[in-house]
Amino acid sequence: MRLILFGGPGVGKGTQAKILSEKLNIPHISTDDILRQAVKDKSEMGKKAGEIMNSGNLVPDDIMVCIIKERLSKPDSQNGFILDGFPRTEIQAVALDKLLEEMNINQFAVVNIYADDEELIKRLNCRRACKECGKIFSLEKIDGLDKCQNCGAENSFYLRDDDKEDVIRNRLKVFKSSTLPVLNYYQERGKVVSVNGIGNIEDVNNLILAEHRKLKKDHSFFLITALNACPSSSLMIRIFIFFTIA
Ligand SMILES: [Zn+2]
Repeated sequence: MRLILFGGPGVGKGTQAKILSEKLNIPHISTDDILRQAVKDKSEMGKKAGEIMNSGNLVPDDIMVCIIKERLSKPDSQNGFILDGFPRTEIQAVALDKLLEEMNINQFAVVNIYADDEELIKRLNCRRACKECGKIFSLEKIDGLDKCQNCGAENSFYLRDDDKEDVIRNRLKVFKSSTLPVLNYYQERGKVVSVNGIGNIEDVNNLILAEHRKLKKDHSFFLITALNACPSSSLMIRIFIFFTIA
Protein backbone atom coordinates (compact mmCIF):
# COMPACT_ATOMS: atom_id res chain seq x y z
CA MET A 1 0.00 0.00 0.00
CA ARG A 2 1.18 3.53 -0.75
CA LEU A 3 0.15 6.17 1.74
CA ILE A 4 0.59 9.91 1.45
CA LEU A 5 0.36 11.56 4.85
CA PHE A 6 -1.16 14.99 4.71
CA GLY A 7 -1.61 17.63 7.40
CA GLY A 8 -0.49 21.04 8.64
CA PRO A 9 2.92 21.68 10.22
CA GLY A 10 3.07 20.13 13.70
CA VAL A 11 0.15 17.77 13.26
CA GLY A 12 2.44 14.79 13.87
CA LYS A 13 2.82 13.48 10.33
CA GLY A 14 6.48 12.58 10.81
CA THR A 15 5.90 10.71 14.07
CA GLN A 16 2.94 8.82 12.62
CA ALA A 17 4.87 7.98 9.46
CA LYS A 18 7.74 6.48 11.48
CA ILE A 19 5.40 4.24 13.49
CA LEU A 20 3.42 3.20 10.41
CA SER A 21 6.64 2.42 8.58
CA GLU A 22 7.62 -0.06 11.31
CA LYS A 23 4.17 -1.60 11.63
CA LEU A 24 3.53 -1.95 7.89
CA ASN A 25 7.16 -2.66 7.01
CA ILE A 26 7.38 -0.10 4.22
CA PRO A 27 9.82 2.85 4.08
CA HIS A 28 9.02 6.27 5.49
CA ILE A 29 10.01 8.82 2.88
CA SER A 30 10.28 12.24 4.46
CA THR A 31 11.25 15.00 2.05
CA ASP A 32 12.10 17.20 5.09
CA ASP A 33 14.61 14.59 6.31
CA ILE A 34 16.13 14.29 2.83
CA LEU A 35 16.41 18.10 2.60
CA ARG A 36 17.84 18.49 6.12
CA GLN A 37 20.49 15.90 5.27
CA ALA A 38 21.37 17.85 2.13
CA VAL A 39 21.63 21.06 4.21
CA LYS A 40 23.88 19.26 6.70
CA ASP A 41 26.05 17.88 3.87
CA LYS A 42 26.20 21.45 2.46
CA SER A 43 25.46 20.19 -1.04
CA GLU A 44 24.60 22.80 -3.68
CA MET A 45 20.91 21.87 -3.40
CA GLY A 46 21.18 21.84 0.39
CA LYS A 47 22.47 25.41 0.54
CA LYS A 48 19.66 26.66 -1.66
CA ALA A 49 16.97 24.67 0.16
CA GLY A 50 18.27 25.60 3.64
CA GLU A 51 17.78 29.31 3.11
CA ILE A 52 14.26 28.83 1.81
CA MET A 53 13.27 26.43 4.62
CA ASN A 54 14.56 28.71 7.37
CA SER A 55 12.25 31.45 6.20
CA GLY A 56 9.27 29.07 6.40
CA ASN A 57 8.71 29.00 2.65
CA LEU A 58 8.39 26.02 0.34
CA VAL A 59 11.31 24.56 -1.59
CA PRO A 60 10.63 24.95 -5.36
CA ASP A 61 8.65 22.20 -7.09
CA ASP A 62 11.41 21.20 -9.53
CA ILE A 63 13.87 20.43 -6.70
CA MET A 64 11.20 18.48 -4.79
CA VAL A 65 10.10 16.42 -7.79
CA CYS A 66 13.73 15.50 -8.52
CA ILE A 67 14.29 14.35 -4.95
CA ILE A 68 11.14 12.24 -4.86
CA LYS A 69 11.76 10.68 -8.26
CA GLU A 70 15.18 9.53 -7.18
CA ARG A 71 13.91 8.18 -3.85
CA LEU A 72 10.92 6.27 -5.28
CA SER A 73 13.15 4.49 -7.77
CA LYS A 74 15.14 2.80 -4.98
CA PRO A 75 14.41 -0.93 -4.49
CA ASP A 76 12.97 -0.56 -0.96
CA SER A 77 10.10 1.58 -2.31
CA GLN A 78 8.83 -1.06 -4.72
CA ASN A 79 6.43 -2.80 -2.31
CA GLY A 80 4.96 0.36 -0.83
CA PHE A 81 5.94 3.56 0.93
CA ILE A 82 4.70 6.31 3.18
CA LEU A 83 5.20 9.79 1.79
CA ASP A 84 5.58 12.56 4.35
CA GLY A 85 5.96 16.16 3.19
CA PHE A 86 5.21 15.55 -0.47
CA PRO A 87 3.27 16.64 -2.49
CA ARG A 88 2.92 20.12 -0.99
CA THR A 89 1.62 21.95 -4.06
CA GLU A 90 -0.79 21.05 -6.81
CA ILE A 91 2.07 21.08 -9.33
CA GLN A 92 3.85 18.46 -7.19
CA ALA A 93 0.63 16.39 -6.98
CA VAL A 94 0.32 16.38 -10.76
CA ALA A 95 4.02 15.46 -11.07
CA LEU A 96 3.54 12.63 -8.56
CA ASP A 97 0.54 11.29 -10.49
CA LYS A 98 2.68 11.18 -13.61
CA LEU A 99 5.50 9.48 -11.74
CA LEU A 100 3.20 6.83 -10.21
CA GLU A 101 1.66 6.20 -13.61
CA GLU A 102 5.14 5.63 -15.06
CA MET A 103 5.77 3.18 -12.22
CA ASN A 104 2.41 1.45 -12.85
CA ILE A 105 1.11 2.32 -9.42
CA ASN A 106 -2.56 3.20 -9.13
CA GLN A 107 -3.35 2.16 -5.58
CA PHE A 108 -2.58 4.80 -3.03
CA ALA A 109 -4.45 6.80 -0.42
CA VAL A 110 -4.01 10.23 1.06
CA VAL A 111 -4.40 10.23 4.85
CA ASN A 112 -5.45 13.70 5.96
CA ILE A 113 -4.54 14.31 9.61
CA TYR A 114 -6.31 17.46 10.77
CA ALA A 115 -6.04 19.77 13.80
CA ASP A 116 -6.79 23.44 14.47
CA ASP A 117 -4.16 26.21 14.08
CA GLU A 118 -3.79 27.21 17.74
CA GLU A 119 -3.22 23.59 18.75
CA LEU A 120 -0.52 23.28 16.09
CA ILE A 121 1.22 26.52 17.14
CA LYS A 122 1.21 25.42 20.78
CA ARG A 123 2.71 22.05 19.86
CA LEU A 124 5.48 23.35 17.58
CA ASN A 125 6.53 26.13 19.90
CA CYS A 126 7.02 23.52 22.63
CA ARG A 127 9.39 21.39 20.57
CA ARG A 128 13.15 21.30 20.96
CA ALA A 129 15.61 19.63 18.63
CA CYS A 130 19.01 18.14 19.46
CA LYS A 131 21.78 19.94 17.54
CA GLU A 132 23.79 16.74 17.28
CA CYS A 133 21.34 14.02 16.23
CA GLY A 134 18.37 16.11 15.06
CA LYS A 135 15.87 14.23 17.23
CA ILE A 136 12.89 16.30 18.33
CA PHE A 137 11.57 16.31 21.90
CA SER A 138 8.64 18.03 23.58
CA LEU A 139 9.65 20.54 26.26
CA GLU A 140 7.90 18.48 28.97
CA LYS A 141 9.94 15.44 28.04
CA ILE A 142 13.32 17.15 28.47
CA ASP A 143 12.33 19.31 31.46
CA GLY A 144 15.37 19.48 33.75
CA LEU A 145 17.58 17.46 31.39
CA ASP A 146 20.72 18.82 29.75
CA LYS A 147 21.70 15.59 28.04
CA CYS A 148 20.07 14.21 24.86
CA GLN A 149 18.49 10.82 25.59
CA ASN A 150 19.05 9.77 22.01
CA CYS A 151 22.74 10.53 21.39
CA GLY A 152 24.08 11.65 24.78
CA ALA A 153 25.12 15.15 23.60
CA GLU A 154 25.12 17.79 26.34
CA ASN A 155 23.36 21.17 26.17
CA SER A 156 22.36 20.44 22.61
CA PHE A 157 18.64 21.35 22.73
CA TYR A 158 17.49 24.32 20.70
CA LEU A 159 14.35 25.82 19.18
CA ARG A 160 14.57 25.29 15.44
CA ASP A 161 14.07 28.41 13.33
CA ASP A 162 11.08 26.84 11.64
CA ASP A 163 9.44 26.10 15.02
CA LYS A 164 9.47 29.76 16.15
CA GLU A 165 6.01 31.29 16.47
CA ASP A 166 6.29 33.87 13.67
CA VAL A 167 7.76 31.28 11.32
CA ILE A 168 5.02 28.81 12.31
CA ARG A 169 2.36 31.39 11.49
CA ASN A 170 4.01 31.87 8.11
CA ARG A 171 4.19 28.08 7.61
CA LEU A 172 0.46 27.83 8.37
CA LYS A 173 -0.24 30.64 5.90
CA VAL A 174 1.85 28.92 3.24
CA PHE A 175 0.19 25.61 4.10
CA LYS A 176 -3.25 27.07 3.54
CA SER A 177 -2.47 28.85 0.31
CA SER A 178 -0.24 26.24 -1.37
CA THR A 179 -0.95 22.92 0.27
CA LEU A 180 -4.70 22.88 0.90
CA PRO A 181 -5.37 22.85 -2.87
CA VAL A 182 -3.48 19.51 -2.88
CA LEU A 183 -6.13 18.07 -0.55
CA ASN A 184 -8.89 19.32 -2.83
CA TYR A 185 -7.08 17.80 -5.79
CA TYR A 186 -7.09 14.34 -4.18
CA GLN A 187 -10.58 14.75 -2.73
CA GLU A 188 -11.92 15.28 -6.25
CA ARG A 189 -10.28 11.98 -7.18
CA GLY A 190 -11.74 10.11 -4.18
CA LYS A 191 -8.31 9.39 -2.67
CA VAL A 192 -8.66 11.01 0.76
CA VAL A 193 -9.42 9.53 4.20
CA SER A 194 -9.47 11.94 7.15
CA VAL A 195 -8.27 11.32 10.70
CA ASN A 196 -8.51 13.61 13.74
CA GLY A 197 -4.93 14.53 14.77
CA ILE A 198 -5.80 15.75 18.27
CA GLY A 199 -5.12 13.01 20.77
CA ASN A 200 -2.16 10.97 21.87
CA ILE A 201 0.20 9.47 19.31
CA GLU A 202 -1.07 5.92 19.78
CA ASP A 203 -4.75 6.82 19.42
CA VAL A 204 -4.10 8.76 16.23
CA ASN A 205 -2.00 5.87 14.93
CA ASN A 206 -4.80 3.40 15.61
CA LEU A 207 -7.23 5.61 13.70
CA ILE A 208 -4.88 5.61 10.70
CA LEU A 209 -4.38 1.83 10.88
CA ALA A 210 -8.15 1.33 11.02
CA GLU A 211 -8.50 3.41 7.83
CA HIS A 212 -5.67 1.42 6.27
CA ARG A 213 -7.45 -1.87 7.05
CA LYS A 214 -10.66 -0.50 5.55
CA LEU A 215 -8.82 0.54 2.39
CA LYS A 216 -7.31 -2.92 2.02
CA LYS A 217 -10.73 -4.51 2.54
CA ASP A 218 -12.43 -2.16 0.05
CA HIS A 219 -9.70 -2.99 -2.40
CA SER A 220 -10.22 -6.77 -2.13
CA PHE A 221 -13.97 -6.20 -2.36
CA PHE A 222 -13.38 -4.30 -5.56
CA LEU A 223 -11.30 -7.14 -6.96
CA ILE A 224 -13.85 -9.79 -5.92
CA THR A 225 -16.58 -7.75 -7.59
CA ALA A 226 -14.48 -7.58 -10.71
CA LEU A 227 -14.09 -11.36 -10.65
CA ASN A 228 -17.82 -12.03 -10.17
CA ALA A 229 -18.65 -9.62 -12.93
CA CYS A 230 -16.75 -11.82 -15.36
CA PRO A 231 -18.09 -15.36 -14.78
CA SER A 232 -16.36 -16.62 -17.89
CA SER A 233 -13.16 -14.87 -17.01
CA SER A 234 -10.30 -16.02 -19.14
CA LEU A 235 -6.90 -16.95 -17.85
CA MET A 236 -5.68 -13.55 -18.99
CA ILE A 237 -8.13 -11.76 -16.72
CA ARG A 238 -7.10 -13.97 -13.80
CA ILE A 239 -3.46 -13.23 -14.41
CA PHE A 240 -4.21 -9.54 -14.60
CA ILE A 241 -6.04 -9.67 -11.27
CA PHE A 242 -3.23 -11.64 -9.69
CA PHE A 243 -0.75 -8.94 -10.66
CA THR A 244 -3.02 -6.21 -9.39
CA ILE A 245 -3.20 -7.88 -5.98
CA ALA A 246 0.55 -8.42 -5.93
ZN1 LIG B 1 20.87 14.06 20.34
